[in-house]
Amino acid sequence: MALTKKQLEAFEKQLMDWKAELEIGQSENVHAMHEQELTAFPDPTDQASMETDRNFDLRIKDRERKLIRKIDQALDRIRDGEFGECESCGGDISIKRLQARPVTTLCIECKTLQEQEERTRLT
Ligand SMILES: [Zn+2]
Repeated sequence: MALTKKQLEAFEKQLMDWKAELEIGQSENVHAMHEQELTAFPDPTDQASMETDRNFDLRIKDRERKLIRKIDQALDRIRDGEFGECESCGGDISIKRLQARPVTTLCIECKTLQEQEERTRLT
């Protein structure tokens, strides 16, 4: 483990703040959606655009929910002392990479490899 206790604490705080922010967003969206439902839209064009808005909201919310789950997993890894360890090769993930994306579970080498494999599968 290349990370110091102090660094881990900083990451833990960063992740918890991030999660709290996302959770506020989630409940706000629910509230806004509920208000929209209570408003009557007699014009079908308005109704259509409202539907699109709602789908957009749901997509964002879905992405946020997945992110919250990733944040939870990262917090678990901090508690288990596995944070900063690559899931694939067991090597250390660079602190720069963790700072840019604290929910990552792969070192840059494994991530690059994974992306290459995904590209190959798609083509
Ligand atoms: Zn790796």
